[in-house]
Amino acid sequence: GRIVASSVEQSYIMIKPDGVQRGLVGEIISRFENKGFLLKGLKLFQCPKDLAQEHYKDLKDKPFFPKLIEYITSGPVVCMAWEGDGVVASARKLIGATNPLQAEPGTIRGDLAVQTGRNVVHGSDSPDNGKREVTLWFKEGELCQWESVQTPWLI
Ligand code: ADP
Ligand code: MG
Repeated sequence: GRIVASSVEQSYIMIKPDGVQRGLVGEIISRFENKGFLLKGLKLFQCPKDLAQEHYKDLKDKPFFPKLIEYITSGPVVCMAWEGDGVVASARKLIGATNPLQAEPGTIRGDLAVQTGRNVVHGSDSPDNGKREVTLWFKEGELCQWESVQTPWLI
């Protein structure tokens, strides 16, 4: 596949190193697959420090920033680009609150995590950031243009 700039909403979803280490990759991907969004990009990736810092640049003045960068670069992450109308807000609902103790049961963090500093998954917080983050984490050629056979039953 060739990268194609998409006008459809996209969210950058990332399984953080704790999710990979704990063997939750399949479980977490299933939540988005079952919901019915379209997977446009997927890779296992060891994140370099400068990319982690760029991704989380809005948080650079927070006291937890150094620990956050250490966490995200501590092992491989699973990078995903998911597409569909409303995917950004919907993915945030599927993921649940930042603090897993406040996340509702049924959400990924509510079901699978306990600590804010080990909350297993990232999801973009706005459509603009979805585009920014997909572009930041995926190179040209890493995203696929395709249509799921399920699409006519979903939209
Ligand atoms: P979210 O991931 O829900 O969008 P934020 O953008 O506020 O949350 O923060 C980004 C990530 O930084 C969180 O998912 C979490 O891993 C980490 N983080 C946020 N707040 C804290 C905190 N108080 N202590 C430690 N880590 C934090
Ligand atoms: Mg955020």
